[in-house]
Amino acid sequence: MTFSVHGLAVARGIAIGRAVLVASSRVDVAHYFIQHAQVSEELERLTQAREAVLEELQGLHDNLPKDSPPELAAILEVHLMLVQDTMLADGVAGWIKDRFYNAEWALTSQLDVVARQFDEMDDAYLRERKGDLEQVVERMLRHMKGVAHVVPQASNKRSNQPRQQDLQLDDEMDVPLVLVAHDLSPADMLQFKQSVFAGFVTDVGGKTSHTAIVARSLDIPAVVGARTASQLVRQDDWIIIDGDAGVVIVNPSPIILAEYGFKQRQADLERERLLRLRHTPAVTLDGQRVDLLANIEMPDDAPAALDVGAVGVGLFRSEFLFMGRAGALPDEEEQYLAYKRAVDGMKGLPVTIRTVDIGADKPLDRTAKDETHLNPALGLRAIRWSLADPAMFLTQLRAILRAAAHGQVHLLIPMLAHAREIQQTFALLEKARRQLDARGDVFGPVKVGAMIEVPAAALSVKMFLRHFDYLSIGTNDLIQYTLAIDRADELVAHLYDPLHPAVLRLLADTIAESRAQGKSVSVCGEMAGDPAMTRLLLGLGLRNFSMHPTQILAVKQEVIRADASRLEAWAQDVLASDEPAQLMGL
Ligand code: PEP
Ligand code: MG
Repeated sequence: MTFSVHGLAVARGIAIGRAVLVASSRVDVAHYFIQHAQVSEELERLTQAREAVLEELQGLHDNLPKDSPPELAAILEVHLMLVQDTMLADGVAGWIKDRFYNAEWALTSQLDVVARQFDEMDDAYLRERKGDLEQVVERMLRHMKGVAHVVPQASNKRSNQPRQQDLQLDDEMDVPLVLVAHDLSPADMLQFKQSVFAGFVTDVGGKTSHTAIVARSLDIPAVVGARTASQLVRQDDWIIIDGDAGVVIVNPSPIILAEYGFKQRQADLERERLLRLRHTPAVTLDGQRVDLLANIEMPDDAPAALDVGAVGVGLFRSEFLFMGRAGALPDEEEQYLAYKRAVDGMKGLPVTIRTVDIGADKPLDRTAKDETHLNPALGLRAIRWSLADPAMFLTQLRAILRAAAHGQVHLLIPMLAHAREIQQTFALLEKARRQLDARGDVFGPVKVGAMIEVPAAALSVKMFLRHFDYLSIGTNDLIQYTLAIDRADELVAHLYDPLHPAVLRLLADTIAESRAQGKSVSVCGEMAGDPAMTRLLLGLGLRNFSMHPTQILAVKQEVIRADASRLEAWAQDVLASDEPAQLMGL
């Protein structure tokens, strides 16, 4: 039966493929495809985990104190039976041998299948055994934990995806795969960056959650905040992701498939057309030069930025180097080499490295979701985190300063609000330089910029301009904190409004004041990469835009069609309006 699920459109385009469900489990599970040659190794890991759990359960059973309640022994017997049940074991082996899932993923996939069978049972006692099965699987997963996450390299570029007309509704392995999950952490997304998925859907998440941001950088269609998608979609269902409309269509009829196949081809044509703008200078009709820079998460993203003609990196989110490492932070040498790689990769163009922004929806580890603090977005995040651990911060500052010896590096500090934080930051920067001097290490000069992403910073922009060489406006957070809307919460996503008059006022004043003082100002939030916002930002005087490389050509197209001086008066009208979206025709 065909049905659709609605969510938030976060990454444009159409994907058509078979669903791969990433089952949610209380144990953190790695999901990756193994090579053919690794099948027996994975089966062996599975066998070992099963045997270890059997031994563990048997030991518990045999050593139960005499006075323990009889139910306990009965439960352990049920668990022992479930571990040995072929329904579980054979099924898991199937996922490994036929689908090349790693053992953990295979186990949770089979858990999902068997759990649904339990749900459908008439007998209430049997239905309740699902909980036992989950516990047994979790025991096995814990035994398997500690294995490196490896995702086989494979291109996920659209051009390499089988076209809709090539698809056959059979079980062939080479059809596009579409990931469906309850939630994916930014670290998970990074892992998927090198994998083969043609699109993805999650139940939770807002438009500018970091998971959505990484999805956009993958340049694959994605829908987040689709609420119950991961419960409604079944493994292997055919699904269409309409990343423009935020709709997921499950088991589409042939007519719907044909329609979306057509849309997919149109979108591909549009992308090819945009590619022709790669070498066109980003200059408005009235001759104003606009700098289009790239946001990157990893040094290896640099070539993609150059490919679309970025004139530098406007935001390197360095925290991605710190994630998914079980709390073991990268040392100075590792960071230095990563920053140097980004600098070398940009071939002489400037690279803006932002110091770590850990916290809120970017935990260090995907298992370490901050549930201990009531509101992590207002907690120890970004520069607050760095200043709370000066040794860690100094390590990062030294690594960045050393990388600056190899090219143009700008340092960018996130989430500042207080004069005290500014002073502490500069004091530590000075200390990092002294430490390098004392060690006799070579380092280079850096321009130092502040992110304006807390309303308090925007409202005291003059103070910031007194201390910093340049400003970069993080609209994702500026909107979140101005409107008190958690950017990662799909339940309030409809209230997350880049065009709210209060947001526009803070944005306009920050740009105007920076320009008045002759200092460079950019926008590096998602607003900068939204072509629907380009004319407004140009009209407000913005000339530096930093965005995912995937957005650069679409924004360039807007720039070269715009007359910046004529947009100024219109932008002031938008600014004065109670309903700016209407004036913008949105
Ligand atoms: C922003 O807040 O707009 C920004 C660019 O930083 P991040 O999205 O990483 O919080
Ligand atoms: Mg931010």
